[in-house]
Amino acid sequence: VSSIVAAASVLLVQEDDVLLVRRSERLRFFGGFWAFPGGKISSADADAATRFPSWGADAALIGAARELFEETGILAARGPDGAFPQAGCRADDRRELLASRQSFTVLLERQGLHLDPSDFAFLGQITTPEFAPVRYATTFFAVRMPGGQAVEIWPGELTESIWSSPDESLDRWRRGELLLSPPTAMSLRALSGAALEQAPARLRPLLASLGQGAMHPIEFAPGVRMVPLRSQALAATTHTNAFLVGSGQRYLIDPGCDDPVEQAKLFTVLDEPSIAGSLVGILLTHQHPDHVAAALACARRYNVPIGAHRATADLLTGKVAVDFFIDEGTALHLGERPDGKGPWQLQALFTPGHAPGHLALLDSCYGCLFAGDMVSTATSVLIAPPRGDLTAYFESLRRLAQVPARLLLPGHGNPSSRPAAVFEEALAHRQERERQLLEVLTAGPTTVDELAPILYRGLPAPAMKFARLQIEAGLEKLQREGRARQTGHLWQAHRT
Ligand SMILES: [Zn+2]
Repeated sequence: VSSIVAAASVLLVQEDDVLLVRRSERLRFFGGFWAFPGGKISSADADAATRFPSWGADAALIGAARELFEETGILAARGPDGAFPQAGCRADDRRELLASRQSFTVLLERQGLHLDPSDFAFLGQITTPEFAPVRYATTFFAVRMPGGQAVEIWPGELTESIWSSPDESLDRWRRGELLLSPPTAMSLRALSGAALEQAPARLRPLLASLGQGAMHPIEFAPGVRMVPLRSQALAATTHTNAFLVGSGQRYLIDPGCDDPVEQAKLFTVLDEPSIAGSLVGILLTHQHPDHVAAALACARRYNVPIGAHRATADLLTGKVAVDFFIDEGTALHLGERPDGKGPWQLQALFTPGHAPGHLALLDSCYGCLFAGDMVSTATSVLIAPPRGDLTAYFESLRRLAQVPARLLLPGHGNPSSRPAAVFEEALAHRQERERQLLEVLTAGPTTVDELAPILYRGLPAPAMKFARLQIEAGLEKLQREGRARQTGHLWQAHRT
């Protein structure tokens, strides 16, 4: 179950430019992405709204002003004479605020400053679609850059900033020079070609329609769209991500489960005027129902073929008819690259382990790696015998860690801008699990049922059956490698 956290975001505007800040790669949510400054609204922001009714500012506005100051050093507050404070002597305040040694309102009061709601143009409020463990209900404001101040990013959650026009930022995004968070990309597109005085007029209707339940355009690179769909996968996972990729020719990767409500969401996206007619095929990363159950309905509705690895096709016999086979090295044509530099392709990588016919797909323009269930950033991936093979899975993880990918797009959870690190961490985690398993086996013969509560201490009872499957996969691997042997139900380390 995801929780919803209130947040505020600021489009700081200076002449024709909007400020973008880059989030640290260490952050779990959109790490490495460029976005507008902003963050969580605190309870202190809400208290301040009640304590200073004369300001006429709500918690979101106070939170926006505070986050802007914390992240960029810009203080959009006014003195008794109505003037903005000039540069200087604010670094100490900012440091105290960041260290939670001082509150934002005390800081303002001490300098005789107040917030003026007319400096914060309300643009709307949107909530992160349901795919992430934490969702943000973010209120957006447009703020004009106060004269006499300068943006200063202090290393931490943010690493750098740029002033640029929406069209310049979008050009750099198309050239693959920067990652934009989807709400940022969406907002900049809405601002494209317009003077920034029109920002509220351009953004308010867009944010209002999203606030009323319209599908969010979750675009991770130009022409790379994610459609998270509710699914009945494992308990910890509530959504499976479908991806739509391409410009002139689009492929739909993993259309999701067969819930009619979720299918309708997917069809809404596929029927959008800019997309309708460009779908040329459906690609399946592997045979699991939460990824493939909607494939036939999509194929029929849009009259397009379904492609998958031959091993996946075999496992789907009688359920989903696969029309063409994909294997290591298969190239799928996506039309023109969005940066105009020739043809755009999707390249298939054969990555068995989670499933015998598992494929990952890498785009040739932005290095987006559609990783299916190789890793999940929402939960851990299950390698369950007889179809799951831990030996092959280790190999596939090692292999994907070497792929020159820039953005990891998993079947479950948030994308990551550190693909190699995610694969290496997954491998290290599995190796540690294997070491623990071998350690227990070395102590004496034991059964899978005895191993589960030892190796997965504290796991809730319903999840124990998955733990047992995971252990079986581990034992199979060790047996294959001559490091463990089985006698009846008893397993023990094999001493040579
Ligand atoms: Zn799966």
